[in-house]
Amino acid sequence: MGVVQCLFNCFSPSDQAFVTLATNDSYARGAMVLGKSLRNHNTSKKLVALIGPQMSDACQSVLKRIYDEVRMVDVLDSGDTAHLAMMKRPDLGVTFTKLHCWTLTHYSKCVFMDADTLVLSNIDELFDREELSAAPDPGWPDCFNSGVFVFRPSMETYGKLLQYCTEHGSFDGGDQGVLNGFFSDWATADISKHLPFIYNLSSIAIYTYLPAFKQYGGNAKVVHFLGKTKPWSYTFDTKSKQIAGSVHEASTHPTFLLEWWTLYSSAVVPMLQEIYGDQPFHSGCVAVNCLDGSLSSLAQALQPQMSSEERKEKWEQGQADYMGMDSFDNIKRKLDTFLK
Ligand code: UDP
Ligand code: MN
Repeated sequence: MGVVQCLFNCFSPSDQAFVTLATNDSYARGAMVLGKSLRNHNTSKKLVALIGPQMSDACQSVLKRIYDEVRMVDVLDSGDTAHLAMMKRPDLGVTFTKLHCWTLTHYSKCVFMDADTLVLSNIDELFDREELSAAPDPGWPDCFNSGVFVFRPSMETYGKLLQYCTEHGSFDGGDQGVLNGFFSDWATADISKHLPFIYNLSSIAIYTYLPAFKQYGGNAKVVHFLGKTKPWSYTFDTKSKQIAGSVHEASTHPTFLLEWWTLYSSAVVPMLQEIYGDQPFHSGCVAVNCLDGSLSSLAQALQPQMSSEERKEKWEQGQADYMGMDSFDNIKRKLDTFLK
């Protein structure tokens, strides 16, 4: 290896990568935002997306523009040990797909990140950690949360994991149960494998320990939208200018949700629009809000809205919402629709 190549490798190792998984178009949106957030914070690592065969060509194209490597993993087609394992435990479908990350042996070290995570600052320092490093799960802190973890790709480990999976299954039905069973000494063996909670801050924790969130939440580097309602599950409703679905559900902190939507609407939706061209597609957000991309209209969409009666009253009291609902742009837009 030449000196220049060596220097290059030492400063920007190309054998290290962030890895995510998206089996369908919904999770693909998460992966797009995650990839963009890593790029925005100038990661020097490679970005890899594992995808499933259900994903549309359009979403694959967008992912290819954001990620260095987009790799199809189809457990059902694979005809290898993963396939056999899958035959015995069809309930663990996505789990087997996630374990595929251990087969990325052209990288020496990787950080896996769920597609429902968002990076808030550079986290390349995670590569200083060893397998298996992860942050505690907020629900049961003696288990690690498998939304963010450091690992070393290895066919040997992969084989052992599949074997463990088929023999013992998963106590929670997903990858987190399998991985905690397999790396069972995580809680006690080596404190350096405990990632600080700020690398996998789940919004659930905000509601269960608010004072700690107030104290430390500002240092958050990765937020994880775990639970059944994902950022992309929400839809902006043009008419009511409200986010459809239950935004009040205590699973997602509005600020982080807003951050996700800001990045999605400003950086990802334009790419989707370019790929889809004239074809209609479901961006999950109202055209007006996403195209103008303005933070205030998003913030507004996330807030419970006043009834038109209340709004009228406010106007009459000289308290129009000049920065939000009653901003010049909104009024102009309304006038334009009348003039058309
Ligand atoms: N995943 C996927 N397709 C699915 C379900 C999950 O690609 O249908 C991937 C995706 O990367 C996701 C991860 O598996 O982030 C774990 O699932 P999820 O985040 O929904 O679980 P939670 O973090 O809410 O427990
Ligand atoms: Mn997740």
